[in-house]
Amino acid sequence: MNRLRRAIFGLALMVAVPLTLAVSAERALAEAPLKVVATTGMIADAARQVGGDAVEVRALMGPGVDPHAYRQTRSDIVAMTRADLVLYHGLYLEAQMEDFLQDLSRKRTVVAVAESLPRDLLRAHDDYENKFDPHVWMTPALWKEVVARVAEVLSEARPGQADVFVANATAHMADLDRLLAYADDTLARVPADSRVLISAHDAFGYFGRDFGFEVLGIQGISTQSEAGLNRISELVDLLVQRQISAVFVESSVSDRSMRALIEGAAAQGHEVKIGGELFSDAMGADGTYEGTYLGMLDHNITTIAGALGADVPARGMDGKLSAGL
Ligand SMILES: [Zn+2]
Repeated sequence: MNRLRRAIFGLALMVAVPLTLAVSAERALAEAPLKVVATTGMIADAARQVGGDAVEVRALMGPGVDPHAYRQTRSDIVAMTRADLVLYHGLYLEAQMEDFLQDLSRKRTVVAVAESLPRDLLRAHDDYENKFDPHVWMTPALWKEVVARVAEVLSEARPGQADVFVANATAHMADLDRLLAYADDTLARVPADSRVLISAHDAFGYFGRDFGFEVLGIQGISTQSEAGLNRISELVDLLVQRQISAVFVESSVSDRSMRALIEGAAAQGHEVKIGGELFSDAMGADGTYEGTYLGMLDHNITTIAGALGADVPARGMDGKLSAGL
């Protein structure tokens, strides 16, 4: 919460000084919602939670879209050049959009909301020097840092509404704290020798670190790396040796390699099931609970814990998950 306190304090100072001069202009501007374009659905959700009625948010990447591979379309470019504010993740998540976003930042307000996270909270990246694992949405504790940053950025864009943004961010963070408590409680029920999470790519490193799971992906941190045959046979051996009974598919990555893994284990007489589909790098369908950040994580936490042997509430933290387990 230190960061939020800092944010609130900083905002209070920032708002107090220019308020008298800017008040009439602000009043006029406050009529129209701030046009925000966000790259991922998760960032769009944070902007909506914090911005409320004061923002109009468009997400470029919908359900099932892989941000490592995504390239901006013509209509994305139009939306971004017309936006008041462009929010992207950073930490090299949007690898194919990086150059475009850098160029755009010379003309528009463009902010990488995860770039400002303290480096000591981030996982180093084996594939590249001075790069970090971008999948920070996988734990509510890190996501709170991003939400605080979104509140700062929206407040800089609309100082007159800073108090509303801070209040909204505070309320959302209370939900994130509740989600974290649910995750701690639910995941702690998974038996110690079943705490192995195997999925298509290495998106769950922070999840593993914070909740005590060994995490193995067929592909690396980016889906752009090769899923080598060696890696698959290595994981097949591990599944068999350790008698791991469930692996997970991801909504934004093809399940082909995961099926090869299951077939490989079956050929050695070990049956592995698909524990469920996880929302790794994109949220669920628009307009559903799983299409929100809270629902995305609730789904992942409940699915992982349930498939690996914990007793879990079938419809998650608040009874809102659409698919019973
Ligand atoms: Zn990823």
